[in-house]
Amino acid sequence: MKITLIKPTIGTKSRNLYVDEGRMEPLQLGVIAALIPSDIDVVLVDDRMEQIPFDDHTDAVMITVETFTAKRAYEISAQYRLRNVPVIMGGMHVKLSHDEVMKHCTSAVMGDAENILQELIEDLKANKLKKLYDCGVADPPQHKLPTRRDLFEGKGYLPIALVQFSRGCIHGCSYCAGSVYFNKKHYCRVIDEVVAEIKSQKRKLIFFVDDNIVADVERAKALCRALIPLKINWVSQGTVNMVYDDELMRLIVESGGMGFVIGFESINPDSLSLMNKDINKEQGVFNQYKKEVATLRKYGLQTWAAFTVGHDTDTVDSIKQTIEWALKNKFTFAAFNILMPYPQTELYKQLEAEDRLLFGGKWWLNDDYRFNHAAFTPKNMTADELTALSFYCRKRFNSPLSVLRRAFEPKTNMRTLRKFITYWLYNPLFRKEVHKKQGLKFGLNHFKEGKNK
Ligand code: SF4
Repeated sequence: MKITLIKPTIGTKSRNLYVDEGRMEPLQLGVIAALIPSDIDVVLVDDRMEQIPFDDHTDAVMITVETFTAKRAYEISAQYRLRNVPVIMGGMHVKLSHDEVMKHCTSAVMGDAENILQELIEDLKANKLKKLYDCGVADPPQHKLPTRRDLFEGKGYLPIALVQFSRGCIHGCSYCAGSVYFNKKHYCRVIDEVVAEIKSQKRKLIFFVDDNIVADVERAKALCRALIPLKINWVSQGTVNMVYDDELMRLIVESGGMGFVIGFESINPDSLSLMNKDINKEQGVFNQYKKEVATLRKYGLQTWAAFTVGHDTDTVDSIKQTIEWALKNKFTFAAFNILMPYPQTELYKQLEAEDRLLFGGKWWLNDDYRFNHAAFTPKNMTADELTALSFYCRKRFNSPLSVLRRAFEPKTNMRTLRKFITYWLYNPLFRKEVHKKQGLKFGLNHFKEGKNK
């Protein structure tokens, strides 16, 4: 038996698929592959740079679906279903929109697929796949099985190994799809098993792809203590309130922590309250992140500052002030993401109730929607203005002059040679991606919803 695992791309701007030059290993598919019994042949196809071999023999296809790749995933599925190949879909979008996903596949897996994979394989062999496997979310049980990293070889992924320590987050930001998926819960793996996984692979640079690795501070500290002897470098994602705990900060650095994606989201305290992100204010007091940025610098952490733009309290001027603030603080990287209404989030429900959703509420399937465009009507500007402002922020932050100026931030990017090299390896790449991705169409645009029901 042969199973083909597929990571879909977002879409295309022209006749050719968009090739993501900053692509990372599809960790989730490596984990799933490890759980498939060894007598089954497993093939990984990454649609971000590979042609999908629709006519090669396969007994089943498993596709991981995110909201941004749903349209392309449905196109791929339609091709396989025309060839009578069963298609199984899993991933975050199934949880957010399972009724929709079920129309486009043989079986949908809602929740953590690890929990039911053995049952699913038995059903596949017996030709008795169920339409929906509702397997819930739980402590990741996959840790004893080594991720099939051999499937990633030769595919040109960035030289950084993806590992997961925890899943989910205890906070409830109004726009966060992860918060819906994990129901504001945070699950950690057994630390010894994370250490064993890191030791079992070759790379010395690790990206912990956790939603929020510092959601449980004591467990994060325990992880750091266990990482110190490994002499690795690592990066991850976390909330800015990590800076209020000196011991945590010290342990992060001692264990090789180099930097974090941090959701600053806004420099407007009203916007933070509106999005339910008061954790960004120390004991409810907001001081324009002065202490937070200073502490990140003190510990030499390189920061990918993530902002969301388009909140009801945002104005054209406040967004322009945000980019000026980011430039002034010389962050290593930054993202200025348009607020996206993911299905089932508080944000989505609010915009739906106020009749402000554009593209029929299903921007991810709409032929007219373009990547990084506003998918709702903002309060204090037009949707087009918001789209233009977000792109303006990205362009300004990644302009050649800005890249040059930020490089010489002495406490972070110039702290060590490794950090300086990291800066120069990734800034030009991200600059290129900003321009390449803007305005992408989702899918290949010959998919018509409902055709393959
Ligand atoms: S802190 Fe981050 S991961 Fe947690 S709910 Fe908010 S956006 Fe989601």
